[in-house]
Amino acid sequence: MAAAATTSVVPPNRRRAVSAPEDKLEFETTEGVEPILSFDQMGIKDDLLRGIYAYGFEKPSAIQQRAVRPIIEGRDVIAQAQSGTGKTSMIALTVCQVVDTSSREVQALILSPTRELATQTEKVILAIGDYINIQAHSCIGGKSVGEDIRKLEFGVQVVSGTPGRVCDMIKRRTLRTRAIKLLILDESDEMLSRGFKDQIYDVYRYLPPELQVVLISATLPHEILEMTNKFMTDPVRILVKRDELTLEGIKQFFVAVEREEWKFDTLCDLYDTLTITQAVIFCNTKRKVEWLTEKMRSNNFTVSHMHGDMPQKERDAIMGEFRSGTTRVLITTDVWARGLDVQQVSLVINYDLPNNRELYIHRIGRSGRFGRKGVAINFVKSDDIKILRDIEQYYSTQIDEMPMNVADLI
Ligand code: ADP
Ligand code: MG
Repeated sequence: MAAAATTSVVPPNRRRAVSAPEDKLEFETTEGVEPILSFDQMGIKDDLLRGIYAYGFEKPSAIQQRAVRPIIEGRDVIAQAQSGTGKTSMIALTVCQVVDTSSREVQALILSPTRELATQTEKVILAIGDYINIQAHSCIGGKSVGEDIRKLEFGVQVVSGTPGRVCDMIKRRTLRTRAIKLLILDESDEMLSRGFKDQIYDVYRYLPPELQVVLISATLPHEILEMTNKFMTDPVRILVKRDELTLEGIKQFFVAVEREEWKFDTLCDLYDTLTITQAVIFCNTKRKVEWLTEKMRSNNFTVSHMHGDMPQKERDAIMGEFRSGTTRVLITTDVWARGLDVQQVSLVINYDLPNNRELYIHRIGRSGRFGRKGVAINFVKSDDIKILRDIEQYYSTQIDEMPMNVADLI
């Protein structure tokens, strides 16, 4: 496809291309899945290819090389790859490929666990699909129902949403499901876990029977893979062994704080390091996020914060400021653990250790996006050390004591 190959429109705001670090990593794939090394060879329509190159993608990442083809061929697919290696971007480009833009019916539905992720995915779809004139809408809680109705009645080919609002729109018959042929669950292990499973099923039962289902995540624990035969047919599996799930580019450290009270001073000592580029600090509760934010501010440190109890308008404003780099240090909960992509984030702090092994991978993966360098620092109290050792062992990775020169690694 000569037209696409000669396209060299790289938007000025795209940062230098970096090569994905995971090219050398092994996948466990269904037989017959061969990597396709360039976007040109994937059978993607010309105007979509233009959009992909214009967006700044030159070469498909390892997961894109393997999973794009089976998805656009209509297979059920389970696709796992390390954080920041282009999975969500792949969702965007595959839905653009499979929908018929001459129709105004919803043909692809993407479900994500947070409103911010659903919106981010919608934005990537609109950007990559610019030349094919894609119509996409994010259908998420906390936004005006009237606007959803207006957009959906106008007609869109793709809906990217959170389960609650999507289900609501389906039940009102505003979101018509009869032309939906593709359902993608991003962060699918989270979507199929206790908190979301019933809501997903609630949506699923309204979808046509010949539905294609695609599951995406960096983490796919055994119990999740086991339940997939209930709603998937002969899926193509592209999986990563758990000892290859952490990225070389993200250096992991711990600081022994002994007691909870010491964490705060440790964080203050690190403040200059936090602001070298951008940093995300994770606490385990909304209250703690509020408390830490207050305490940092009363000590004259500039920080922003976000959690799921804030009004959506405020969440949007905070996201906007953080994405633009106006704010540099974000204190947050696990609402931020999965999927959100801010390339400038190079440091993640676990002020509290996460409550499960999967969240650890997702949290530290907010840094080190697409081959960039990242640093993760874990604050561990004496009785947390065994949790950290468990994580280290589970992923066969190394978490060393934080060195004095940690700032040099960012
Ligand atoms: P994941 O979902 O695996 O965490 P994302 O799809 O969010 O990864 O992509 C991470 C970053 O890498 C994003 O900034 C995205 O624009 C960029 N990216 C994805 N695919 C490519 C590609 N083929 N070439 C260059 N950059 C890419
Ligand atoms: Mg993602």
